[in-house]
Amino acid sequence: MPGRILVADSTVNNRIALNAVLNSEYFDAICVDDAKSVSRAVLKHQPDVILMSTHLGRDDGYLVTKKLKLNAFSAHIPVVLYTSSPEQVDWGKALVNLVDDVQIYPQNPSSLISRLRLLYRQKVELDSLKTHANAADQFGFNDIAVEFPAQRLVKSKVAIIKHRTKDTEFNLDPNLGGSYVLSSDCKPAHIAKNTDLIVLQSADAQCRLVSDFQEDARTKNIPILGLVDKPAQTQLKRLYELGAQECLFSTAPEPQINTRIQSLIASSQHKSDLRSLLDARVKEAYFDPLTGLYNRRHAQQYLSKCFQQSQKGNNGLVALMLDIDNFKSVNDTLGHIAGDAVLQQIATRLSGNLRRVDMVARMGGEEFLVLLPNTAMKRALQIAERLRRLIEEEPFKLNANKISQDITISIGVSKLSKRHNYASDLVNSADQALYRAKELGRNRIYIAA
Ligand code: GH3
Ligand code: MG
Ligand code: MG
Repeated sequence: MPGRILVADSTVNNRIALNAVLNSEYFDAICVDDAKSVSRAVLKHQPDVILMSTHLGRDDGYLVTKKLKLNAFSAHIPVVLYTSSPEQVDWGKALVNLVDDVQIYPQNPSSLISRLRLLYRQKVELDSLKTHANAADQFGFNDIAVEFPAQRLVKSKVAIIKHRTKDTEFNLDPNLGGSYVLSSDCKPAHIAKNTDLIVLQSADAQCRLVSDFQEDARTKNIPILGLVDKPAQTQLKRLYELGAQECLFSTAPEPQINTRIQSLIASSQHKSDLRSLLDARVKEAYFDPLTGLYNRRHAQQYLSKCFQQSQKGNNGLVALMLDIDNFKSVNDTLGHIAGDAVLQQIATRLSGNLRRVDMVARMGGEEFLVLLPNTAMKRALQIAERLRRLIEEEPFKLNANKISQDITISIGVSKLSKRHNYASDLVNSADQALYRAKELGRNRIYIAA
């Protein structure tokens, strides 16, 4: 899908010209003529980049940008302003109004196009992370809302890597956060944790570092801004190929560099928020948050894999269904928090006393499933008895060790056999055996018929 650019210009001829230029570069353009239509078009078309004249009729492009950036609906969309003369660019104003970049247009169309491509690529990357995070939401009710961090860059951390001591002094705008300086012999290990951006001075002489950082797990997700000394196209191309996010000339005015830094940091922080969310969602999908054990969903998937393997290889698969005895009375007398602590301690005892190939999952409430692959019934019974005793013999310490509570469990045991047509039949027969164990007085093991 081509990138979708929202063009805002009050002059009809400019809109026609830009539309043609963008189409010839394989972008889709949507054109509007005033600030009000920008907001409407953002809602309607969800553009990937907004390209706006610094003078939008009576409105000021910089101020329109700020409004867009403060609106949760549009904060994540990069905004590029353009004006026809370099003297008219106000970088200080761009910085405070959260503009992503200002370009000189129509004098320098190739620079404009390459900037649009770059921002479009970044935006697509963010969108795809967002889609992953949404897809990984096991409940899938709502689309995620991770706020775009345009307004909370205060704590950002920037590494500035100097090539020589005579590199021109570069100062990070203090409003963007703090920086620290490293020399060109630094290694990925020297990049501090939670660094949001690496600024590489004399980047054309430090290509090697770009590839080092890209290949190291600790630094590969940190964007690199290269400040280049000589305008050599081949070196620029090389830096981008190696993985630099962006390159600027070191002679560019400091507020211009800071404007781009602000934009890079915002998208980098947004990306890392989305990545953390994705990690959390993946965990949520497989693990029970209270005990850290696998959840029912994973247990079922794992069971069906074991079932298929056992059918092929005919090696014994045994299911143990465990249930805490009279757990309701523990909750009723000691409270729900103590009850939760019992569940957690049981999880620790169970998982600490099984082989790596065995799987233990919390199936819900106070019920646990243990799957023992490649296990004969005799051995499975020894394991079940060990687990039963492990719970019975050591009282549970609750309420900050003030209470010592005896707990027991009952266990139903079932071995996979020809009677079982489906993976779930195995668990059902372990469940029935568990029911019998309860009927017979609890704190015992019962083997399925
Ligand atoms: P039985 O020996 O027959 O298994 O009796 P029981 O009391 O253990 O079984 P019952 O099914 O009557 O009650 C189960 C209790 O488990 C009810 C509920 O309060 C408790 N429970 C379920 N999930 C949780 C949880 O996440 N935390 C806590 N604290 N309690 C839970
Ligand atoms: Mg119970
Ligand atoms: Mg139960």
